Amino acid sequence: MKTSSLPRLGDFRRVVFFTGAGLSAESGIPTYRGHGGIWKEYDYQEYACQRAFDRDANKVWDFHDKRRAAVRACSPNDGHRVIAEWQRRAPGTVVVTQNIDRLHQRAGAYDVIELHGSLWRVRCDREKVTRPDESIPMAPRKCACGAFLRPDIVWFEDALDPETVRRAQDALAKCDLLVTVGTSGVVYPAAELPRVAMQHGATTVEVNVEDTPVSRLYEHRARGQASEILRAMAAAT
Ligand SMILES: [Zn+2]
Repeated sequence: MKTSSLPRLGDFRRVVFFTGAGLSAESGIPTYRGHGGIWKEYDYQEYACQRAFDRDANKVWDFHDKRRAAVRACSPNDGHRVIAEWQRRAPGTVVVTQNIDRLHQRAGAYDVIELHGSLWRVRCDREKVTRPDESIPMAPRKCACGAFLRPDIVWFEDALDPETVRRAQDALAKCDLLVTVGTSGVVYPAAELPRVAMQHGATTVEVNVEDTPVSRLYEHRARGQASEILRAMAAAT
């Protein structure tokens, strides 16, 4: 790992951490598309799209109960902790994540924009309401109104919540340092959001185990374990 030329977090006023599956992978949570990704084992068309839910809500919930149990068994890692500590030290630090596991919050982060929703929220589409729910198995599966509750996550074929995307864009436009951690950069809007920061003149760092299709857009690239690299960036000069 070479971090000597990496920017120090302490030299910036508004840091945005943009995180993806690679960060949670260090906690043991399976990634989605890469090697060992869960969508190689499970067909998303059977378990993670609205069509599957409309066809058989109980089957989709059985699968999400398993995901909840797997995520609950994992703990935030040092990367999550560095980010949460930095947020406490430097208010104005924002976390934008593609992860649905809530590990940032469990590490103590408070301002977290969850682009893909949360595994720990449920939603009634009939009444357009969401609420936190941490039960395993999730019960009852039906809302008081009679409709099935669904996980409040962005499934395949779902649109992102426009208000959530707007908040993320706003944070990225205002930051002076963008640290992207563990995202492959290929899934919308992971490829687009960093450009917002770049267009506004922010310093940009990509932390990942390997190069991605968008690596060349970043000013700085750090290769290795996110926890180790972030710890080095947070250290005083
Ligand atoms: Zn309802």
